[in-house]
Amino acid sequence: MTKIDFDNTQLPSPSYIVDERLLKRNLEVLDSVQQRTGASILLTLKGFSMWSTFPLVREYLKGVTSSSLFEARLGFEKMGKEVHAYQPAYSDHEIDEMLSYVDHIVFNSFNQLKKFKDKVKNVKGKNIEIGLLVNPQYSETETALYDPCYAHSRLGITLANFKPEELDGVDGIHFHSLFEQNSDILEHTIKVVEDKFGEYIHKMKWLNLGGGHHITRPDYDIEKLIRIINQLKETYNVEVYLEPGEAIALNTGYLTATVLDIVTNGIEIAILDTSAECHMPDVLAMPYRPQIIGAGLPGENAYTYRLGGITCLADDIIGDYSFEKPLQAGDKLVFLDMPHYTMIKNQMFNGLNLPSIVTFNKEDGFKVVSQFKYEDYTNRLF
Ligand SMILES: *Cc1c(COP(=O)(O)O)cnc(C)c1O
Repeated sequence: MTKIDFDNTQLPSPSYIVDERLLKRNLEVLDSVQQRTGASILLTLKGFSMWSTFPLVREYLKGVTSSSLFEARLGFEKMGKEVHAYQPAYSDHEIDEMLSYVDHIVFNSFNQLKKFKDKVKNVKGKNIEIGLLVNPQYSETETALYDPCYAHSRLGITLANFKPEELDGVDGIHFHSLFEQNSDILEHTIKVVEDKFGEYIHKMKWLNLGGGHHITRPDYDIEKLIRIINQLKETYNVEVYLEPGEAIALNTGYLTATVLDIVTNGIEIAILDTSAECHMPDVLAMPYRPQIIGAGLPGENAYTYRLGGITCLADDIIGDYSFEKPLQAGDKLVFLDMPHYTMIKNQMFNGLNLPSIVTFNKEDGFKVVSQFKYEDYTNRLF
């Protein structure tokens, strides 16, 4: 069973906690891939944008990937290294500001490339590199919500729509079709990418392997990843980029919450001061079952509860868990692996406040880096 080696009882509840020791461990793993391959690893901001940790992230990674104007600006201002952008389409009223932040921009169609190419190449003072996102139409992801290659996906250019005669000015090829996967799936995917687009990759400066690489998971086959990257570099003489989001923050922290009440309706139900809908939306979207320290599957321990959120949404349910002792109002629960795709995706439905954001490291102990208030709610509405 996972244990935390610090006392979280005095923290605001609920709170997301990021343990910087664990983040550093992930960054070291990612950096070892960079060291052994010469590839560049970027943080995909969509998965983890907690910029108070960027001074640490910056020591290891080469920059960020953004997929909106705000992300590009955040990466430019707070990370200050390479800023890549990919968006399914860029807006006319945002593109100029976007170009002021980025050094690499990836287009999702030849239309968009044609429309913006001259603008990109005419930006003064820097040479922005252009890439195209291709869709290999191959993936082994079962959840359509997270599969960029499902039938009729809008993400990426398929081979049938690829226009080799329009590659002038294009520096890189990009694909993104993995999701929480190991390097064996990358190997299968690369085969398809090479079959379909290999002749064009030979003409490129770089190849971006996208995200979804679960590199920091204990069973990830890093040696295979390193072989794949080194082989690609040798075959095509390209720079290689990877842009994981989840892998950077995987297993680096928690969401702590408090039991507010216990009710019964055929089963015992604990109502928490957090919410699946608002604070851990992927629990409902994926769906998945987060782990809780000290809790097991229903029936595994003596006392089983359904854990419900504090909103009025009927389906705001985290899941059924069992505990060794009966739960009581005031008990603290610690959900594992909560930093990625949570604080960036959470929302204030039902007027529910957001969890505080807390960091932990050996030197400073806990630091509450952000707490939210009424105006964070009202400012988005008017
Ligand atoms: C979401 C996304 C990523 C990061 O994916 P993870 O699953 O968090 O590693 C990388 N690149 C693109 C284009 C994405 O859309």
